[in-house]
Amino acid sequence: MSTFLPYGRQYITDEDVDAVVKVLKSSFLTQGPKVSEFEDVIRSIVQAQHAIAVNSATSALHVACLALDLGPKEILWTTPITFVASANCALYCGAEVDFVDVEPDTGLMCTICLEEKLKAAKKLNKLPKVVVPVHLTGTSCDMKKIYQLSVEYGFSIIEDASHAIGGSYYGEPVGSCKYSHICVFSFHPVKIITTGEGGAATTNSVKLADKMRRLRSHGITKDPSQFLQTDPPPWVYEQQDLGFNYRMTDFQAALGISQLRQLSENIKTRNKKLFFYRKLISDWQLPLTLTKIPSNTVSAVHLAIVQLQGNLKAKRRFIFERLREQQIGVQVHYMPVHLQPYYQQQGFVAGQYPKAEEFADGIISIPLFPQLSDQDQIRVVNAIKQLL
Ligand SMILES: *Cc1c(COP(=O)(O)O)cnc(C)c1O
Repeated sequence: MSTFLPYGRQYITDEDVDAVVKVLKSSFLTQGPKVSEFEDVIRSIVQAQHAIAVNSATSALHVACLALDLGPKEILWTTPITFVASANCALYCGAEVDFVDVEPDTGLMCTICLEEKLKAAKKLNKLPKVVVPVHLTGTSCDMKKIYQLSVEYGFSIIEDASHAIGGSYYGEPVGSCKYSHICVFSFHPVKIITTGEGGAATTNSVKLADKMRRLRSHGITKDPSQFLQTDPPPWVYEQQDLGFNYRMTDFQAALGISQLRQLSENIKTRNKKLFFYRKLISDWQLPLTLTKIPSNTVSAVHLAIVQLQGNLKAKRRFIFERLREQQIGVQVHYMPVHLQPYYQQQGFVAGQYPKAEEFADGIISIPLFPQLSDQDQIRVVNAIKQLL
């Protein structure tokens, strides 16, 4: 029996384990000095002025929306080809969600569609307050164009870079927020690096950073320079907003710091593996295409999404089931969010975002993670070849 190959998997080294154990034996377990150190490392890698570590990317998206004052009667736009969290964050704030269709060869937010939708929304007085482009597979969206539109139409941008730490766009690290207000990362085990569960938001705005920091811990600040009252006694902390407990623990942060030491190696390895898949597919002339990566970006390669060509699309379920039977943990990233039962109950219908639906109909994610061997990759592509 061959071993099961998941579509993604964490890579934990002995150094990672040692780093966690060291914190477990220290006096700080929850948010403490390691969380600040982790935030410093993230800041320096992505070249942003502020980083706020939290317990998931979902929490990061939530506090990011609140920091940008997204509230009832306001609108957030994201893409249907994403994990549900990119849209749910708007609903947590009582705001509305709508979707922008995607490009057929990347699955990324289509900027032409965005511009058309903005023009139409302006006439109806229904412009979004926040737009959330999603860097699917670790490949950055066209942020220059989206940023230009944000200036023209007056919306804020949260990059959902859950897949993309370690990637870059026109030489700028994803997370630098050069073309956005806030950028969000996930450290769930299937993502690029992990802290077990975890996430972070980066920004260059002190105001947004302070607000997100308060919101991750009940809306409380302990920093006297931020107090609203004058001459407070020494025991005072102030609750200034309604926040949550979204804190990351110090042992998770220690794991994150250790994992980030191998980030550039990790990204190189992932890119090599993607290249090898491309080579096998082209050498064997298979009717499959891996999603396109624009030349101005370095993808972090969280996922290898293959698009089935032509009449093969109709056989997706068959191919998927046979691959699973062979212990190949294929997946679909993603079923369009607006087709989820919950979103259908909110009034979304099939056919509303045709390019996203067409993209989603013909995709399968094949295994890609740092420890995948060449033999594993040959096994995956050969299994598909046999099925054809
Ligand atoms: C994984 C993921 C999230 C949520 O991340 P968590 O850390 O699990 O909350 C959000 N958006 C996208 C695009 C993701 O892939």
